[in-house]
Amino acid sequence: MRIKMGTVILLLFFLLILISSCNKAPQAHTEIIFGTVCSINLFKKGTEKRYQELFARLNELDQILSANRDDSTIAKINAAAGLHPVHAGKEIIEILSSALFYAEKSEGLFNPAIGPLVRLWNIGNENARVPEPAAITQALLLVDWKSIHIDSENETVFLEKPGMLLDLGAIAKGYAANEVASMIRSWGISRGIIDLGGNIVTLGNKEKGTPWHIGIRNPELSGGNSIISLYASDVSMVTSGINERFFIENQKRYHHILDPKTGYPAENDLLSVSVISPDSMEADALSTTLFLLGREKSITFLAAFPGVEAVFIDKTRAVHVTNGLFGSLKIRDSSFYLYP
Ligand code: AMP
Ligand code: MG
Repeated sequence: MRIKMGTVILLLFFLLILISSCNKAPQAHTEIIFGTVCSINLFKKGTEKRYQELFARLNELDQILSANRDDSTIAKINAAAGLHPVHAGKEIIEILSSALFYAEKSEGLFNPAIGPLVRLWNIGNENARVPEPAAITQALLLVDWKSIHIDSENETVFLEKPGMLLDLGAIAKGYAANEVASMIRSWGISRGIIDLGGNIVTLGNKEKGTPWHIGIRNPELSGGNSIISLYASDVSMVTSGINERFFIENQKRYHHILDPKTGYPAENDLLSVSVISPDSMEADALSTTLFLLGREKSITFLAAFPGVEAVFIDKTRAVHVTNGLFGSLKIRDSSFYLYP
């Protein structure tokens, strides 16, 4: 049988496509959860069944923790404010206990009772606008973390004042990232990347044993390019900044990290704070807390958290890093510079 040269070339071409598609790195699995893009990449260990289990857990956590869903456990606790305790379950007890720890450490700057203020400002939604000062004063009366009562034994939470609202938006994704990281580790998988809307956990190293590069996005832009690369293995990095949710009114930017002392978005010289810690819930809570504290107070504050590192980017585009990070990061955009 005679085979034409053209046919051979065509067959070789299809064979090549087949081989290259077999070798293609498995894709990360991505879904919108917690109102943001969540993706997990387990590389060659990423089976459909594993991704299904991980994302089922993330969806379950959203159902429990969301301040924006009427059917979440948080919504039930909020609806019972001033009335009665509500069975909260182990997840909320753990997150809220941790949130109250950061509230106490930061003298109420980190404040899980921030809900009435978040609702008033409505930042991130279309109709966001600067509220009337009287409405801010009114909301501030309800932003009272000391009136949150936890009964760990019975797993209940009671908000003492009618109108109080819990909001765990500054810490919940960190808890969720820890959860999926420990599920992955329990399967004996030691390599992967978890990214819950910028709340990142790196597991292990790259295939060749070198550390992962994780990026910090340009904090002046929404969804900007990565301007800093950090070399990191088995850590979490979480960023809080002015570019995540905001609106502009009369040329002024109003972002979503609210100062419970003033009732307005935290004002200082920072564009963003990224916190690096092995514990993603700690990194999440601390990134918000340090943003509220500002850079100078943050340095003193961090003395109580050994093993935690931070990157502060200020409005002059100076990048300030804690001592442990010198040598493990690279600035990729020359309009930003490492503060000496
Ligand atoms: P993050 O992006 O982790 O810094 O969290 C910001 C989110 O936390 C906001 O969108 C609010 O839901 C909530 N939040 C705002 N201000 C505070 C605050 N002072 N303390 C705790 N949570 C806050
Ligand atoms: Mg946070």
